[in-house]
Amino acid sequence: MAFEYAPAPESRAIVDLKSSYGVFIDGEFVDTADGHTFKSISPATEEVLAEITEAGPADVDRAVAAARRAYDDTWSTMPGAERAKYLYRIARIVQERSRELAVLESLDNGKPIRESRDVDLPLVAAHLFYYAGWADKLEYAGLGPDPRPHGVAAQVIPWNFPMLMLAWKIAPALAAGNTVVLKPAETTSLTALAFAEICRQADLPPGVVNIVTGAGDTGRALVEHPGVDKVAFTGSTEVGKAIARAVAGTAKKVTLELGGKAANIIFDDAPLDQAVEGIINGIFFNQGHVCCAGSRLLVQESVYDDVLTSLKRRMATLRVGDPLDKNTDIGAINSAEQLAKIRTLSDIGEAEGAERWSPPCELPDRGYWFRPTIFTGVSQAHRIAREEIFGPVLSILTFRTPAEAVEKANNTPYGLSAGVWTDKGSRILWTANQLKAGVVWANTFNRFDPTSPFGGYKESGYGREGGKHGLAAYLKGGEN
Ligand code: NAD
Repeated sequence: MAFEYAPAPESRAIVDLKSSYGVFIDGEFVDTADGHTFKSISPATEEVLAEITEAGPADVDRAVAAARRAYDDTWSTMPGAERAKYLYRIARIVQERSRELAVLESLDNGKPIRESRDVDLPLVAAHLFYYAGWADKLEYAGLGPDPRPHGVAAQVIPWNFPMLMLAWKIAPALAAGNTVVLKPAETTSLTALAFAEICRQADLPPGVVNIVTGAGDTGRALVEHPGVDKVAFTGSTEVGKAIARAVAGTAKKVTLELGGKAANIIFDDAPLDQAVEGIINGIFFNQGHVCCAGSRLLVQESVYDDVLTSLKRRMATLRVGDPLDKNTDIGAINSAEQLAKIRTLSDIGEAEGAERWSPPCELPDRGYWFRPTIFTGVSQAHRIAREEIFGPVLSILTFRTPAEAVEKANNTPYGLSAGVWTDKGSRILWTANQLKAGVVWANTFNRFDPTSPFGGYKESGYGREGGKHGLAAYLKGGEN
């Protein structure tokens, strides 16, 4: 059982929420052509946080035109060292305002403040600092003596790491000399709009960064706009495929970071206590709303009982509740729609014959919540073993030999990430070599670093973000 803790809520007074927000075009917050709006809701309380403007095709057009002007007139001709100064300035402002941004992210997304404060925001700043360092060193990126940017980048991001995904997209694009029009996900626009304010605070030239808010139609208008040179998308495989079809036959460059169904493999010689922590982190971090979540656990049969007992004991200590409470481990599910999806797939898991278990834990009355859940008796044919649930739900399978582990791990249309837990270095290397996954973590999980490329195989997408590879995607002569 969890210890009793006194509530330790982070104050939200530090956040200055406006009742409504326009779109950010050419350095100004402006109204849209048709004035349509939608609400951003706190998933923990269902409280309306703000009214967000829905950008239509005419607004996207204005944003792309502003980005083009800024590209031609200032940003692409500015020396890299000058671009770096802006990026460093933005990175420092993000650090200075990180507490406010972490609270805003937790309010809007539902993730625990412990994660937005200690993971998301530090990584946002780290990405901005890292790519700021590249801006005056592009000739050392391995793409020739004077690599050139593509032009205007259209960037569409999901709701699970709103500000971090923004940083992954904007930092390398600006460092390489591109200008951007970014669309945040419709349920989590607020930190992107706060970032727009930060661009103003940093005196970034108007039009270098434009933020258009809205849902799928706005995203479609943006990626299909003829004035766009480069498309960078993070989101579901389904939408990724639609985008790939839409830009096929055009001169646009594309990178796609899509879904995943990662295997987390526990060999019988693994340090089991650490492995159990890795399993918890792999699937319950960020409510399991993680593209690279370790959602398929593969345990060697000889240690299965021990792992399951320890895992259940550890799960019983997880605290589910108020995202702004500093003791909270698992926050709110991001939207009613996502909660319905998680419930449906979990019900299908039971109907298909897998055994479902969750620790006893009280859930708040209002808001969108789902208990941490595991399924045992899962076969590879079960939908819960094949489809991305994108929630705090773990499917557990077993294996006898390393070859069987690899075979099962690779038996998926996805290939974003994987985990390997073992005492033997040679086994780590052997397994990692066999796994068809863009990232393989050994004796750890969900570790990120701006210098390290991240991306998928197969239906998890193509192109890399992070590191020099992530920079190359924004330069002519790069891989994509
Ligand atoms: P989603 O594909 O529904 O939406 C992602 C973004 O695309 C949103 O901003 C949405 O408004 C926009 N969009 C929707 N339809 C569009 C269209 N036709 N054209 C252009 N834009 C459109 O995904 P989601 O539910 O927001 O995010 C969850 C998914 O994202 C999961 O599958 C997850 O695995 C994936 N993801 C991948 C990574 C990665 O790096 N590989 C990272 C985070 C999330």
